[in-house]
Amino acid sequence: MRAMQLNHTSAIEENPLMMVDRAKPEPGEGEVLLRVNVCGLCHTDLHTVEGEIIPPSFPVIPGHQVVGTVAAVGAGVCGQSVGDRVGVPWLYRACGECEYCRRGEENLCPQARFTGFHVDGGYAQHMIAEARYLLPIPDEIGDENAAPLLCAGIIGFRSLHKADLQPGERLGLVGFGASAHLAIQVARYWDCEVYVFTRSEGHRRLAEELGAAWVGGSEDRPPKLLDRAIIFAPLGELVPMVLEKIRPGGTLAINAIHMSLIPEMEYALIYGERTLRSVANATYQDGVQFLHLAAQIPIRVSTKLYELGEANQALMDLKQSRIDGAGVLKI
Ligand SMILES: [Zn+2]
Ligand SMILES: [Zn+2]
Repeated sequence: MRAMQLNHTSAIEENPLMMVDRAKPEPGEGEVLLRVNVCGLCHTDLHTVEGEIIPPSFPVIPGHQVVGTVAAVGAGVCGQSVGDRVGVPWLYRACGECEYCRRGEENLCPQARFTGFHVDGGYAQHMIAEARYLLPIPDEIGDENAAPLLCAGIIGFRSLHKADLQPGERLGLVGFGASAHLAIQVARYWDCEVYVFTRSEGHRRLAEELGAAWVGGSEDRPPKLLDRAIIFAPLGELVPMVLEKIRPGGTLAINAIHMSLIPEMEYALIYGERTLRSVANATYQDGVQFLHLAAQIPIRVSTKLYELGEANQALMDLKQSRIDGAGVLKI
C-alpha cells in the first residue's frame, strides 16, 4: 500500500512526509483493516510533523480524520462487517478501566492512544483501527464532508460544551479554520450570536456567509461583551486579549493541543468569576452525538481536496491559512 510516512520531525517547508510502499497490515484481535477513502487534515498533524508534539516512535503515518470501508475483520470483532463505512477519530482507544474511563471521560485516560500519533493513521491506502472505537457515519453525509467532522467537528462541538454555551448567548470564535467553521453552524443552530476574530480575508468571508454577526481582528473590540469564547489558534498571547472581551461569569475555552507561552496577566482579567479552561481530545460519545447533529442541521462543510502525494503541500497551505474550511486528502 502507498502511504505518506514521517521518519523524523522537521519544518513542513522541508517536505518531511515521504511517499513509501508498505505491506498491507493484518488486523489483530478486536481490530479491523480499513481501506481509506479520505483523510482530513488537522493542525495536530502539522504539530506532529513539525515536532511540537513528538510521537513515541518513528516512522509513523499521520492522519486522524479517516473515512474508510471495512476491508477485513480480526478475531472477536462484532458489530462491524466487511463493506461498512466508518470513521476513525483522534481517540484510537482508551483503557476502559481507569478512573477517567469509568467517569465517561476517556479523553483524559492516561493510557489513551491517538490515531496517527501512537499508531499509524490515515495518510495511507489502508490502516488498522480498533473496532470498538469506530464511529458510524450517517448515510446523508458523503466521505469528503464527513472527514473534517471527525476531529475539527467533534472537538469544536466539545469546545462549545466546555465553553458552557447556552442557546441564545453571544459567542466569540478566535481563529476561523476547519474547527470554527463547523462550530459556528452548531452555535447558529442554537440561536447564538457569533463574533468571529480572524485576520484572513477568505476566513472572514466564510464566517459572514455562515451567519457571523460580526467579524474583526483579535485586537478589535466587539460592540458587546461576550458570554463565551473559544480560542482555536495556538497563540498564548490571545488569552489575555480574549479574556478582556468576556463578561463577568463568562467562559473562555482553549481548543488547542499545543499553545505558545501565555503572557503574565492581571488577575482582574479572570476575576468576576470568569472561567478559563482547555479542551483535550474528545470522547466516543462526543463523536456519536455530533455526527448525529451534523446530519440533522445539516452542517455544510467547505473542503479543499488534495491527492495523497500532496500531503506536504496540503499541510503547508494549512500552516499559511490558505485553506478556507477544511483540507482533505482523497486517497
Ligand atoms: Zn485533529
Ligand atoms: Zn482509561
